[in-house]
Amino acid sequence: MNDCIFCKIVGREIPARVVYEDDVLLAFEDIRPQAPVHILIIPKDHFASLAEASEKKSALLGRLLLQAKDIARLKNLEGTGYRIVLNTGRDSGQDVPHLHFHLLGGRKMTWPPG
Ligand code: AMP
Ligand code: ZN
Repeated sequence: MNDCIFCKIVGREIPARVVYEDDVLLAFEDIRPQAPVHILIIPKDHFASLAEASEKKSALLGRLLLQAKDIARLKNLEGTGYRIVLNTGRDSGQDVPHLHFHLLGGRKMTWPPG
């Protein structure tokens, strides 16, 4: 049995505010937004993190990133900019072990990140 929370969102067992969907990707609003725009972009098929990615995933990873860019444009972030985050493993603070890009925007970000 798959207990992955993001797989459950893909399967509509858990509700989410979906902003984009196609055959391989899903994007939805983060439940604890860290910026006025905070959207998660995930592959529909489970895979835990970038650390597990091989050459086979390169097209999928490219699609995720380009979709993040398209959603940023739809959210009118092109002019002001935005940040895309891919937490990987314990030290990054990755909490959900299903690969996801965070798209953050609508406020000024600081660097370095916490
Ligand atoms: P990370 O720390 O990179 O693994 O990020 C996981 C993100 O998933 C966090 O920003 C959470 O707020 C978000 N999250 C957890 N559960 C849900 C949910 N049910 N719906 C939407 N976002 C969620
Ligand atoms: Zn999953």
